[in-house]
Amino acid sequence: MADPIDIVVAGGGMVGSAFAAALADSPLQIHVINAHPPSPWQEHHYDTRVSAINLASESILSSVDSWQHVQERRAAPFREIEVSDHITGQTLCFDAADSGLAHLGHIVENSAITEALRLRLEAAPNVTVSQNDRVQSVNHAQGQILVSTEQHQIITARLLVGADGATSTIRALSGISFNRVPYGQTALVSTVTTREHHGDIARQRFLPTGPIAFLPLADGRCSIVWSADSAYAEKLMAMTDPAFLAELNTAFPNQLDVTFATPRQSFILEQLHTSTYCVERIALIGDAAHTLHPLAGLGVNLGLLDAASLAETILHVIDHHRDIGGVSTLRRYERWRKGENTLALATIEAIHQFFQQSNPLAHQLRAAGMSFCQRNPFINRFFVHRATGLSGDLPRAARYAET
Ligand SMILES: Cc1cc2nc3c(=O)[nH]c(=O)nc-3n(C[C@H](O)[C@H](O)[C@H](O)COP(=O)(O)OP(=O)(O)OC[C@H]3O[C@@H](n4cnc5c(N)ncnc54)[C@H](O)[C@@H]3O)c2cc1C
Repeated sequence: MADPIDIVVAGGGMVGSAFAAALADSPLQIHVINAHPPSPWQEHHYDTRVSAINLASESILSSVDSWQHVQERRAAPFREIEVSDHITGQTLCFDAADSGLAHLGHIVENSAITEALRLRLEAAPNVTVSQNDRVQSVNHAQGQILVSTEQHQIITARLLVGADGATSTIRALSGISFNRVPYGQTALVSTVTTREHHGDIARQRFLPTGPIAFLPLADGRCSIVWSADSAYAEKLMAMTDPAFLAELNTAFPNQLDVTFATPRQSFILEQLHTSTYCVERIALIGDAAHTLHPLAGLGVNLGLLDAASLAETILHVIDHHRDIGGVSTLRRYERWRKGENTLALATIEAIHQFFQQSNPLAHQLRAAGMSFCQRNPFINRFFVHRATGLSGDLPRAARYAET
Protein backbone atom coordinates (compact mmCIF):
# COMPACT_ATOMS: atom_id res chain seq x y z
CA MET A 1 0.00 0.00 0.00
CA ALA A 2 1.34 3.44 -1.00
CA ASP A 3 2.07 6.24 1.49
CA PRO A 4 -0.97 8.20 2.70
CA ILE A 5 -1.90 11.22 0.63
CA ASP A 6 -4.15 14.22 1.35
CA ILE A 7 -7.16 13.97 -0.96
CA VAL A 8 -8.74 11.35 -3.22
CA VAL A 9 -11.22 12.74 -5.73
CA ALA A 10 -13.70 10.19 -7.09
CA GLY A 11 -14.82 11.49 -10.50
CA GLY A 12 -12.88 13.43 -13.11
CA GLY A 13 -15.79 15.11 -14.88
CA MET A 14 -16.00 18.90 -15.13
CA VAL A 15 -16.59 19.36 -11.38
CA GLY A 16 -14.07 16.86 -9.94
CA SER A 17 -11.36 18.06 -12.35
CA ALA A 18 -12.05 21.72 -11.51
CA PHE A 19 -11.79 20.93 -7.80
CA ALA A 20 -8.41 19.21 -8.26
CA ALA A 21 -7.25 22.08 -10.51
CA ALA A 22 -8.17 24.60 -7.81
CA LEU A 23 -5.68 22.82 -5.51
CA ALA A 24 -3.00 22.30 -8.17
CA ASP A 25 0.40 23.56 -7.02
CA SER A 26 -0.79 23.57 -3.37
CA PRO A 27 1.19 21.55 -0.81
CA LEU A 28 -1.53 18.86 -0.90
CA GLN A 29 -1.09 15.49 -2.65
CA ILE A 30 -4.20 14.71 -4.71
CA HIS A 31 -5.26 11.57 -6.60
CA VAL A 32 -8.19 11.78 -9.04
CA ILE A 33 -9.83 8.46 -9.94
CA ASN A 34 -12.13 8.58 -12.92
CA ALA A 35 -14.30 5.73 -14.17
CA HIS A 36 -14.60 6.87 -17.80
CA PRO A 37 -12.13 9.14 -19.57
CA PRO A 38 -13.98 12.24 -20.82
CA SER A 39 -14.54 12.36 -24.60
CA PRO A 40 -11.69 14.20 -26.32
CA TRP A 41 -12.51 17.58 -27.84
CA GLN A 42 -12.60 17.41 -31.66
CA GLU A 43 -11.87 20.33 -33.94
CA HIS A 44 -14.01 19.05 -36.80
CA HIS A 45 -16.92 17.68 -34.79
CA TYR A 46 -19.09 19.69 -32.42
CA ASP A 47 -19.71 17.80 -29.16
CA THR A 48 -23.47 17.23 -28.76
CA ARG A 49 -23.06 17.89 -25.01
CA VAL A 50 -22.66 21.60 -24.40
CA SER A 51 -23.23 23.76 -21.32
CA ALA A 52 -24.27 27.34 -20.80
CA ILE A 53 -21.36 28.60 -18.70
CA ASN A 54 -22.15 31.70 -16.65
CA LEU A 55 -19.78 34.50 -15.65
CA ALA A 56 -19.03 32.99 -12.23
CA SER A 57 -17.95 29.72 -13.89
CA GLU A 58 -15.90 31.64 -16.45
CA SER A 59 -14.03 33.22 -13.51
CA ILE A 60 -13.52 29.86 -11.80
CA LEU A 61 -12.12 28.34 -15.00
CA SER A 62 -9.89 31.43 -15.46
CA SER A 63 -8.63 31.12 -11.90
CA VAL A 64 -7.35 27.61 -12.68
CA ASP A 65 -5.75 28.78 -15.97
CA SER A 66 -8.22 26.81 -18.09
CA TRP A 67 -10.58 29.41 -19.56
CA GLN A 68 -8.08 30.51 -22.20
CA HIS A 69 -7.72 26.86 -23.34
CA VAL A 70 -11.51 26.59 -23.55
CA GLN A 71 -11.71 29.73 -25.66
CA GLU A 72 -8.88 28.55 -27.93
CA ARG A 73 -11.03 25.53 -28.72
CA ARG A 74 -14.57 26.95 -29.11
CA ALA A 75 -16.80 29.11 -26.93
CA ALA A 76 -19.79 31.09 -28.15
CA PRO A 77 -20.64 34.19 -26.13
CA PHE A 78 -24.32 35.07 -25.85
CA ARG A 79 -25.35 38.63 -25.11
CA GLU A 80 -29.11 38.14 -24.89
CA ILE A 81 -31.50 35.61 -23.39
CA GLU A 82 -34.99 35.49 -24.91
CA VAL A 83 -37.68 33.59 -23.00
CA SER A 84 -41.06 33.06 -24.65
CA ASP A 85 -44.29 31.41 -23.57
CA HIS A 86 -46.13 29.40 -26.21
CA ILE A 87 -49.54 29.76 -24.51
CA THR A 88 -49.62 33.47 -23.71
CA GLY A 89 -47.34 34.66 -26.53
CA GLN A 90 -45.39 36.80 -24.03
CA THR A 91 -41.64 37.26 -24.46
CA LEU A 92 -39.01 38.35 -21.93
CA CYS A 93 -35.60 39.65 -23.03
CA PHE A 94 -32.48 39.99 -20.93
CA ASP A 95 -29.73 42.01 -22.56
CA ALA A 96 -26.13 42.06 -21.28
CA ALA A 97 -25.78 45.73 -22.27
CA ASP A 98 -28.61 46.74 -19.90
CA SER A 99 -26.46 45.49 -17.01
CA GLY A 100 -23.25 46.99 -18.38
CA LEU A 101 -21.89 43.59 -19.45
CA ALA A 102 -20.38 42.48 -22.78
CA HIS A 103 -22.04 39.05 -22.56
CA LEU A 104 -24.19 36.97 -20.21
CA GLY A 105 -22.26 33.72 -20.60
CA HIS A 106 -20.86 31.28 -23.16
CA ILE A 107 -22.06 28.05 -24.72
CA VAL A 108 -19.16 25.65 -24.43
CA GLU A 109 -18.66 21.99 -25.33
CA ASN A 110 -18.29 19.84 -22.20
CA SER A 111 -15.30 18.16 -23.89
CA ALA A 112 -13.55 21.56 -24.28
CA ILE A 113 -13.88 22.11 -20.52
CA THR A 114 -12.68 18.64 -19.48
CA GLU A 115 -9.76 18.84 -21.95
CA ALA A 116 -8.67 22.27 -20.69
CA LEU A 117 -8.80 20.96 -17.11
CA ARG A 118 -6.94 17.78 -18.08
CA LEU A 119 -4.06 19.89 -19.44
CA ARG A 120 -3.98 21.85 -16.17
CA LEU A 121 -3.89 18.67 -14.07
CA GLU A 122 -1.15 17.12 -16.22
CA ALA A 123 1.02 20.17 -15.51
CA ALA A 124 0.44 19.97 -11.74
CA PRO A 125 3.20 18.09 -9.87
CA ASN A 126 0.93 17.36 -6.90
CA VAL A 127 -1.95 15.74 -8.86
CA THR A 128 -2.13 12.15 -10.17
CA VAL A 129 -5.04 11.02 -12.37
CA SER A 130 -6.10 7.37 -12.85
CA GLN A 131 -8.50 6.86 -15.76
CA ASN A 132 -10.66 3.75 -16.33
CA ASP A 133 -10.80 2.97 -12.64
CA ARG A 134 -13.57 3.50 -10.12
CA VAL A 135 -13.83 3.77 -6.37
CA GLN A 136 -15.44 0.59 -5.11
CA SER A 137 -15.27 0.72 -1.33
CA VAL A 138 -14.27 3.02 1.52
CA ASN A 139 -13.24 2.32 5.11
CA HIS A 140 -12.48 4.65 7.98
CA ALA A 141 -9.22 4.04 9.87
CA GLN A 142 -7.63 6.22 12.57
CA GLY A 143 -8.33 9.68 11.25
CA GLN A 144 -7.93 8.56 7.64
CA ILE A 145 -9.99 7.03 4.89
CA LEU A 146 -9.04 3.91 2.94
CA VAL A 147 -10.23 3.94 -0.64
CA SER A 148 -10.21 0.75 -2.76
CA THR A 149 -10.71 0.76 -6.50
CA GLU A 150 -11.81 -1.71 -9.15
CA GLN A 151 -8.21 -1.88 -10.46
CA HIS A 152 -7.01 -2.95 -6.99
CA GLN A 153 -5.51 0.37 -5.93
CA ILE A 154 -5.71 1.01 -2.19
CA ILE A 155 -5.19 4.65 -1.25
CA THR A 156 -5.15 6.16 2.22
CA ALA A 157 -6.07 9.82 2.46
CA ARG A 158 -7.28 12.49 4.86
CA LEU A 159 -10.28 13.36 2.68
CA LEU A 160 -12.36 11.71 -0.06
CA VAL A 161 -14.30 14.04 -2.36
CA GLY A 162 -17.24 12.48 -4.20
CA ALA A 163 -17.54 14.19 -7.60
CA ASP A 164 -18.86 11.06 -9.25
CA GLY A 165 -22.07 12.41 -10.70
CA ALA A 166 -25.79 11.85 -10.29
CA THR A 167 -25.52 8.11 -9.56
CA SER A 168 -22.68 8.69 -7.07
CA THR A 169 -21.11 5.58 -5.54
CA ILE A 170 -19.49 7.73 -2.83
CA ARG A 171 -22.92 9.05 -1.82
CA ALA A 172 -24.17 5.46 -1.48
CA LEU A 173 -21.05 4.20 0.33
CA SER A 174 -21.19 7.05 2.84
CA GLY A 175 -24.84 6.39 3.62
CA ILE A 176 -25.88 9.98 2.82
CA SER A 177 -29.62 10.08 2.16
CA PHE A 178 -31.20 12.17 -0.55
CA ASN A 179 -34.51 13.37 -1.86
CA ARG A 180 -35.23 12.45 -5.49
CA VAL A 181 -38.13 13.90 -7.49
CA PRO A 182 -38.54 12.73 -11.09
CA TYR A 183 -39.74 15.50 -13.41
CA GLY A 184 -41.53 13.00 -15.67
CA GLN A 185 -39.60 14.64 -18.51
CA THR A 186 -36.75 13.63 -20.79
CA ALA A 187 -34.32 16.06 -22.41
CA LEU A 188 -33.39 15.58 -26.07
CA VAL A 189 -30.20 17.20 -27.31
CA SER A 190 -29.01 17.71 -30.86
CA THR A 191 -26.94 20.19 -32.88
CA VAL A 192 -29.08 21.90 -35.49
CA THR A 193 -28.39 23.90 -38.63
CA THR A 194 -30.67 26.90 -39.12
CA ARG A 195 -31.41 29.05 -42.15
CA GLU A 196 -30.91 32.26 -40.16
CA HIS A 197 -27.99 33.10 -37.86
CA HIS A 198 -28.76 32.91 -34.13
CA GLY A 199 -27.45 36.45 -33.54
CA ASP A 200 -25.68 35.40 -30.28
CA ILE A 201 -29.04 35.01 -28.54
CA ALA A 202 -29.89 32.09 -26.23
CA ARG A 203 -33.57 31.33 -26.76
CA GLN A 204 -35.96 29.34 -24.60
CA ARG A 205 -39.61 28.66 -25.32
CA PHE A 206 -41.99 27.15 -22.77
CA LEU A 207 -44.41 24.70 -24.42
CA PRO A 208 -47.25 22.92 -22.59
CA THR A 209 -45.10 19.73 -22.81
CA GLY A 210 -41.91 21.37 -21.47
CA PRO A 211 -39.27 23.94 -22.43
CA ILE A 212 -37.13 23.94 -25.56
CA ALA A 213 -33.85 25.89 -25.75
CA PHE A 214 -31.82 27.04 -28.75
CA LEU A 215 -28.27 27.73 -27.60
CA PRO A 216 -25.99 29.63 -30.01
CA LEU A 217 -22.80 27.85 -31.12
CA ALA A 218 -19.55 29.34 -32.40
CA ASP A 219 -19.99 27.95 -35.94
CA GLY A 220 -23.40 29.60 -36.38
CA ARG A 221 -25.43 26.46 -35.56
CA CYS A 222 -27.47 25.94 -32.37
CA SER A 223 -27.55 23.25 -29.75
CA ILE A 224 -31.10 22.36 -28.79
CA VAL A 225 -32.20 21.04 -25.41
CA TRP A 226 -35.82 19.93 -25.75
CA SER A 227 -37.28 18.84 -22.41
CA ALA A 228 -40.56 17.06 -22.98
CA ASP A 229 -42.98 14.86 -21.08
CA SER A 230 -41.43 11.40 -21.26
CA ALA A 231 -44.06 9.74 -23.51
CA TYR A 232 -43.82 12.60 -26.03
CA ALA A 233 -39.99 12.56 -25.79
CA GLU A 234 -40.02 8.86 -26.68
CA LYS A 235 -42.05 9.68 -29.80
CA LEU A 236 -39.62 12.48 -30.69
CA MET A 237 -36.69 10.10 -30.32
CA ALA A 238 -38.34 7.53 -32.58
CA MET A 239 -39.26 10.00 -35.38
CA THR A 240 -37.58 10.00 -38.77
CA ASP A 241 -35.32 13.01 -39.40
CA PRO A 242 -37.82 14.87 -41.65
CA ALA A 243 -40.68 14.28 -39.17
CA PHE A 244 -38.51 15.49 -36.28
CA LEU A 245 -37.51 18.66 -38.17
CA ALA A 246 -41.15 19.42 -38.95
CA GLU A 247 -42.12 18.90 -35.29
CA LEU A 248 -39.23 21.08 -34.12
CA ASN A 249 -40.08 23.96 -36.45
CA THR A 250 -43.71 23.81 -35.35
CA ALA A 251 -42.77 23.69 -31.66
CA PHE A 252 -40.40 26.63 -31.96
CA PRO A 253 -41.73 28.73 -34.81
CA ASN A 254 -38.95 31.30 -34.57
CA GLN A 255 -37.12 33.06 -37.34
CA LEU A 256 -34.24 30.55 -37.31
CA ASP A 257 -35.88 27.74 -39.35
CA VAL A 258 -34.09 24.46 -38.70
CA THR A 259 -32.91 22.57 -41.81
CA PHE A 260 -30.78 19.78 -40.30
CA ALA A 261 -30.38 18.06 -36.93
CA THR A 262 -27.57 15.70 -35.82
CA PRO A 263 -28.58 12.37 -34.15
CA ARG A 264 -30.57 13.00 -30.96
CA GLN A 265 -29.43 11.97 -27.49
CA SER A 266 -31.79 11.74 -24.54
CA PHE A 267 -31.48 12.18 -20.77
CA ILE A 268 -34.11 11.36 -18.14
CA LEU A 269 -34.54 14.39 -15.86
CA GLU A 270 -34.87 14.35 -12.11
CA GLN A 271 -34.25 16.65 -9.21
CA LEU A 272 -32.02 15.28 -6.47
CA HIS A 273 -30.65 16.86 -3.32
CA THR A 274 -28.74 15.13 -0.55
CA SER A 275 -29.65 15.65 3.11
CA THR A 276 -26.05 16.62 3.85
CA TYR A 277 -22.91 17.32 1.78
CA CYS A 278 -20.49 15.63 4.15
CA VAL A 279 -19.74 13.03 6.76
CA GLU A 280 -16.41 12.53 8.55
CA ARG A 281 -13.63 12.49 5.83
CA ILE A 282 -16.08 12.56 2.90
CA ALA A 283 -17.53 15.55 1.01
CA LEU A 284 -19.83 15.58 -2.02
CA ILE A 285 -19.70 18.17 -4.83
CA GLY A 286 -21.56 18.70 -8.12
CA ASP A 287 -24.18 16.26 -9.39
CA ALA A 288 -23.25 13.81 -6.62
CA ALA A 289 -24.96 16.26 -4.22
CA HIS A 290 -27.64 17.85 -6.44
CA THR A 291 -29.24 17.63 -9.86
CA LEU A 292 -31.91 19.89 -11.34
CA HIS A 293 -33.89 20.59 -14.51
CA PRO A 294 -31.67 21.95 -17.32
CA LEU A 295 -34.17 24.75 -18.11
CA ALA A 296 -31.87 27.40 -16.64
CA GLY A 297 -28.57 25.69 -17.53
CA LEU A 298 -27.38 25.70 -13.93
CA GLY A 299 -26.14 22.18 -13.03
CA VAL A 300 -22.45 22.46 -13.79
CA ASN A 301 -22.39 26.13 -12.78
CA LEU A 302 -23.52 25.15 -9.27
CA GLY A 303 -21.06 22.25 -9.26
CA LEU A 304 -18.14 24.54 -10.13
CA LEU A 305 -19.16 26.82 -7.25
CA ASP A 306 -19.11 23.78 -4.92
CA ALA A 307 -15.65 22.87 -6.22
CA ALA A 308 -14.27 26.40 -5.75
CA SER A 309 -15.87 26.79 -2.29
CA LEU A 310 -14.57 23.45 -1.00
CA ALA A 311 -11.08 24.21 -2.35
CA GLU A 312 -11.13 27.66 -0.71
CA THR A 313 -12.29 26.14 2.61
CA ILE A 314 -9.46 23.57 2.48
CA LEU A 315 -6.80 26.19 1.67
CA HIS A 316 -8.08 28.24 4.61
CA VAL A 317 -7.85 25.35 7.08
CA ILE A 318 -4.38 24.25 6.00
CA ASP A 319 -3.18 27.82 6.61
CA HIS A 320 -4.51 27.35 10.17
CA HIS A 321 -3.00 23.81 10.52
CA ARG A 322 -6.41 22.21 10.97
CA ASP A 323 -7.69 18.85 9.70
CA ILE A 324 -8.92 19.04 6.06
CA GLY A 325 -11.14 15.97 6.48
CA GLY A 326 -12.57 16.81 9.91
CA VAL A 327 -16.30 17.33 10.22
CA SER A 328 -15.92 20.97 11.32
CA THR A 329 -14.01 21.79 8.10
CA LEU A 330 -16.51 19.97 5.91
CA ARG A 331 -19.52 21.48 7.68
CA ARG A 332 -18.09 24.92 6.90
CA TYR A 333 -18.19 24.00 3.19
CA GLU A 334 -21.69 22.58 3.58
CA ARG A 335 -23.02 25.72 5.33
CA TRP A 336 -21.58 27.81 2.51
CA ARG A 337 -23.06 25.87 -0.38
CA LYS A 338 -26.18 24.02 0.75
CA GLY A 339 -28.30 27.12 1.31
CA GLU A 340 -27.27 28.60 -2.07
CA ASN A 341 -28.03 25.33 -3.88
CA THR A 342 -31.35 24.89 -2.05
CA LEU A 343 -32.38 28.36 -3.22
CA ALA A 344 -31.34 27.57 -6.81
CA LEU A 345 -33.24 24.25 -6.81
CA ALA A 346 -36.35 25.92 -5.35
CA THR A 347 -36.21 28.73 -7.93
CA ILE A 348 -35.93 26.29 -10.83
CA GLU A 349 -38.78 24.22 -9.40
CA ALA A 350 -40.94 27.37 -9.11
CA ILE A 351 -40.18 28.35 -12.74
CA HIS A 352 -40.89 24.78 -13.89
CA GLN A 353 -44.24 24.74 -12.04
CA PHE A 354 -45.10 28.30 -13.18
CA PHE A 355 -44.90 27.22 -16.83
CA GLN A 356 -46.50 23.78 -16.29
CA GLN A 357 -49.84 25.16 -15.04
CA SER A 358 -52.58 24.65 -17.59
CA ASN A 359 -55.56 26.53 -16.11
CA PRO A 360 -56.63 29.88 -17.66
CA LEU A 361 -56.07 31.83 -14.42
CA ALA A 362 -52.46 30.66 -14.32
CA HIS A 363 -52.08 31.73 -17.97
CA GLN A 364 -53.36 35.22 -17.12
CA LEU A 365 -50.99 35.45 -14.15
CA ARG A 366 -48.10 34.31 -16.35
CA ALA A 367 -48.87 36.90 -19.00
CA ALA A 368 -49.14 39.66 -16.39
CA GLY A 369 -45.98 38.51 -14.56
CA MET A 370 -43.87 38.30 -17.71
CA SER A 371 -45.07 41.66 -18.95
CA PHE A 372 -44.32 43.25 -15.55
CA CYS A 373 -40.78 41.77 -15.49
CA GLN A 374 -40.13 42.98 -19.03
CA ARG A 375 -41.15 46.55 -18.20
CA ASN A 376 -39.36 46.74 -14.84
CA PRO A 377 -35.61 47.37 -15.32
CA PHE A 378 -34.86 46.61 -11.66
CA ILE A 379 -36.39 43.11 -11.86
CA ASN A 380 -34.77 42.58 -15.24
CA ARG A 381 -31.33 43.38 -13.78
CA PHE A 382 -32.07 41.14 -10.75
CA PHE A 383 -32.67 38.16 -13.09
CA VAL A 384 -29.51 38.96 -15.07
CA HIS A 385 -27.55 39.09 -11.82
CA ARG A 386 -28.81 35.62 -10.87
CA ALA A 387 -28.43 34.14 -14.37
CA THR A 388 -24.79 35.24 -14.58
CA GLY A 389 -24.07 33.56 -11.23
CA LEU A 390 -22.79 36.78 -9.72
CA SER A 391 -25.15 36.80 -6.73
CA GLY A 392 -24.90 35.16 -3.34
CA ASP A 393 -21.87 34.39 -1.22
CA LEU A 394 -19.30 33.60 -3.92
CA PRO A 395 -15.92 31.94 -3.45
CA ARG A 396 -13.05 34.29 -4.36
CA ALA A 397 -12.34 32.39 -7.60
CA ALA A 398 -15.88 33.07 -8.88
CA ARG A 399 -15.85 36.85 -8.50
CA TYR A 400 -16.04 38.15 -12.03
CA ALA A 401 -13.92 41.01 -13.26
CA GLU A 402 -14.53 41.86 -16.91
CA THR A 403 -11.26 42.22 -18.85
C1 LIG B 1 -29.55 17.80 -21.28
C2 LIG B 1 -28.74 18.49 -20.24
C3 LIG B 1 -28.30 19.79 -20.47
C4 LIG B 1 -27.55 20.45 -19.49
N1 LIG B 1 -27.18 21.74 -19.73
C5 LIG B 1 -26.48 22.41 -18.78
C6 LIG B 1 -26.09 23.77 -18.99
O1 LIG B 1 -26.36 24.37 -20.04
N2 LIG B 1 -25.40 24.40 -17.99
C7 LIG B 1 -25.10 23.77 -16.82
O2 LIG B 1 -24.54 24.41 -15.92
N3 LIG B 1 -25.44 22.47 -16.61
C8 LIG B 1 -26.11 21.78 -17.55
N4 LIG B 1 -26.44 20.46 -17.34
C9 LIG B 1 -26.01 19.79 -16.10
C10 LIG B 1 -24.53 19.32 -16.22
O3 LIG B 1 -24.36 18.53 -17.37
C11 LIG B 1 -24.15 18.52 -14.98
O4 LIG B 1 -24.48 19.27 -13.84
C12 LIG B 1 -22.63 18.23 -14.96
O5 LIG B 1 -22.26 17.44 -16.05
C13 LIG B 1 -22.24 17.53 -13.67
O6 LIG B 1 -20.84 17.38 -13.64
P1 LIG B 1 -20.16 16.43 -12.56
O7 LIG B 1 -18.68 16.52 -12.82
O8 LIG B 1 -20.69 16.74 -11.20
O9 LIG B 1 -20.71 14.96 -12.88
P2 LIG B 1 -20.49 14.07 -14.18
O10 LIG B 1 -20.36 14.89 -15.40
O11 LIG B 1 -21.55 13.03 -14.15
O12 LIG B 1 -19.05 13.38 -13.93
C14 LIG B 1 -18.90 12.35 -13.00
C15 LIG B 1 -17.58 11.61 -13.30
O13 LIG B 1 -17.37 10.62 -12.29
C16 LIG B 1 -16.97 9.41 -12.88
N5 LIG B 1 -17.38 8.33 -11.95
C17 LIG B 1 -18.62 7.81 -11.73
N6 LIG B 1 -18.60 6.88 -10.76
C18 LIG B 1 -17.31 6.81 -10.33
C19 LIG B 1 -16.63 6.08 -9.32
N7 LIG B 1 -17.27 5.18 -8.54
N8 LIG B 1 -15.29 6.27 -9.15
C20 LIG B 1 -14.60 7.15 -9.92
N9 LIG B 1 -15.21 7.88 -10.89
C21 LIG B 1 -16.53 7.74 -11.08
C22 LIG B 1 -17.65 9.37 -14.24
O14 LIG B 1 -16.89 8.57 -15.14
C23 LIG B 1 -17.60 10.87 -14.63
O15 LIG B 1 -16.41 11.18 -15.34
C24 LIG B 1 -27.21 19.78 -18.29
C25 LIG B 1 -27.63 18.47 -18.06
C26 LIG B 1 -28.38 17.83 -19.03
C27 LIG B 1 -28.82 16.41 -18.78
